[in-house]
Amino acid sequence: MYRLACRLGLSGIVYNDTKGVTVELQGEEEKIDELLVRLQSGPDKPPVAEIQSCKTVDIAVIESEDKFIIKASDSQGTALSQVTADIATCRDCLSEMAEKEDFRHGYPFINCTNCGPRYSIVKTIPYDRPNTTMSEFAMCNRCAAQYADVTDRRFHAQPVACGVCGPKIWLTDSEGKTITIQTDKTIPETAGLLRAGKVLAIKGIGGFHLAVDALNDEAVKRLRERKKRDHKPFAMMAASIETIKKHALVSEPAEKFLKNPQSPIVLLPKRKDSPIAPSVAEGVNTFGFMLCYAPLHYLLFAQNIKVLVMTSGNISDEPLICKNEQAMEKLACVADAFLMHDREIYRQVDDSIVHFIERDPVLLRRARGYVPTPILIEENCRQDIFAAGGDLKNTFCFGKQNQLICSEHIGDLEDAEVYHHYINSIEHLRKLFEVEPKVVVCDLHPGYLSTQYALSLSDLKAIQVQHHWAHIASVLAEHGLDGPVIGLAADGTGYGTDGAIWGCECLIASLDGFERFGHLAYYTLAGADMASKEAIRPVLGLLKKTYRDDFNLQKFRWLVDRIETDANKQQIISEQLEKRINAVETSSLGRIFDAVAAMLGLGSYNHFEAQLPMALEAIIGGGTEEHYDFELIRRASEPLQLDLRKMTMQLITDIQKGNPSGVISAKFHNTIAAALLQFATIARESKNLNTVALSGGVYCNHYLTNRLIKLLQENSFSVLFNRNVPANDGGISLGQAAIAAKLAARIS
Ligand code: ZN
Ligand code: ZN
Ligand code: FE
Repeated sequence: MYRLACRLGLSGIVYNDTKGVTVELQGEEEKIDELLVRLQSGPDKPPVAEIQSCKTVDIAVIESEDKFIIKASDSQGTALSQVTADIATCRDCLSEMAEKEDFRHGYPFINCTNCGPRYSIVKTIPYDRPNTTMSEFAMCNRCAAQYADVTDRRFHAQPVACGVCGPKIWLTDSEGKTITIQTDKTIPETAGLLRAGKVLAIKGIGGFHLAVDALNDEAVKRLRERKKRDHKPFAMMAASIETIKKHALVSEPAEKFLKNPQSPIVLLPKRKDSPIAPSVAEGVNTFGFMLCYAPLHYLLFAQNIKVLVMTSGNISDEPLICKNEQAMEKLACVADAFLMHDREIYRQVDDSIVHFIERDPVLLRRARGYVPTPILIEENCRQDIFAAGGDLKNTFCFGKQNQLICSEHIGDLEDAEVYHHYINSIEHLRKLFEVEPKVVVCDLHPGYLSTQYALSLSDLKAIQVQHHWAHIASVLAEHGLDGPVIGLAADGTGYGTDGAIWGCECLIASLDGFERFGHLAYYTLAGADMASKEAIRPVLGLLKKTYRDDFNLQKFRWLVDRIETDANKQQIISEQLEKRINAVETSSLGRIFDAVAAMLGLGSYNHFEAQLPMALEAIIGGGTEEHYDFELIRRASEPLQLDLRKMTMQLITDIQKGNPSGVISAKFHNTIAAALLQFATIARESKNLNTVALSGGVYCNHYLTNRLIKLLQENSFSVLFNRNVPANDGGISLGQAAIAAKLAARIS
């Protein structure tokens, strides 16, 4: 603002306050108009600035005013969230890094006000250098001069540094012995190891990556083995869109998104002729690609590196590793060498993941680049709120004034280290955003660790929110709505108000309540937690539901044997279903996807969440519009029930006939889309509502979601879905917080 006002010869003042930025401008009217245009849409809008709204009013002229000044903001009255997200290296910095004459030529930590680390290096507020992990690097004269020069691009860029004064890189072997400490040798040496198929641990912005040549199948397999990650697809990094286009289909909006300052991993349809090693991403039809986002990445890729697997530096599902010592200790058995640096990462932040629904980017994992950007709400929270989230793909959320601030992706809390990380993160972010929660909100599931933790905070008022209500509320919060809407939750599992495990729900939902209008008819699942891993459990549950007393194992041996070879185990599960021992009633839709995938021979075990549903989506072929039969059954005073027995019978007949799996999969997906449309149609008639909100983990399924949106739109519904937070359980905390913000006003 200062630079722009001075250039246009305007006088005035700029300062931060609780509402944002206030600017007073005095001078020629056209110049003021020009400033507004340049700032909002023109070349002077900082690349990462997001102007939510801009209001102008006329004020009195001050005759004596002759210059433009920046007024210091007093910390009492400053805007709530002062910390911004980490930002990918900007173009200006890249060209300086390439420029031989520049004093930051080849410097792996070059950054400016428009780019560089933020959230990952902040220890406490206010966001000033002494409160970041850059505090231990005293600026040299040249850096200090730029930092203090209001006309410079590095004015008040807290992480500013150069090769003389800033962080440094070095390379060590897996035993911690230094290979080289010279910057100009470290990068080529690292690249050489990668080209030779070695596994490298590379310290980046939000944590360590494990990197390996993505074209070398042997090397990728070695990484899988050592990381104890059998099946989950790996993300990849490339230095240019042109490279990515050789391996994946990049639509126009996807290309734009890859180049965003947030620089997320974008899921893109695979190209059949791509030479990427098969073991990078088996059983899915997409590749996850991101562009280089740190100067270090660019320097590395300049050494004849094409595509690298860049996966989180951790062992199986533990938290991302971000400290040097911890990396040496935990990753020594995974990495052949370590590319280290000495800028401490204070908060570990995973790479974010985006996919496209229609032409809209939708977050599947919200972390680096997006956190801690708040989601704004209309009405202020009367009291500060802590929302504990769910247990899988956990995020938590704070509500303060008009901001809902979601944490980055934390992970699955059942892992002890992740749980520990969860507890620490809550306390850290609470301090960082100066939140004093008076209300705590959590899931209804008594077994969730997040619920137990939330309820242990006994001095806070507690609210428990049904899982799928929270899912739908997350959509309402994102779109600034209160409801009511027709909420179509399509999900794995969530604890219901009747003690059953819900999953496919048609809710008439607002932020202050919901009615269960309809759901998938209950079937029985045996074996509690194992039911979401072993597909034989939902398969037998579905068969039993469909054929009732006609079901016996002998008759379906041909089908069941391909899923579970142990006849004894089949027998035990059947008996559990029969006698309802260790069995629950459920309307889970996710498990139906598991069952269908398994019956089609696509596997029998979810090594990671939604592995089988993803495999089922990946084989869709034939472009069929057909679907199987289903029924919606209405019984007095009960919610509408979706009965999939006909579908199951027809599908099994198709398998028996040997019809192509790709067509069966398409027909199955089409059936679910048609059934959800039917729910919405009946709800519209009965409730006189026309807006449908979609949320739940099943909507990570690209084909289903696109098809359902299309069907709903063709039937004149207005359709809302998650974009800013994941449709999976990563979005639960936002929904909980939005509900609590609404309800807390009442219970206070
Ligand atoms: Zn920059
Ligand atoms: Zn310097
Ligand atoms: Fe869920």
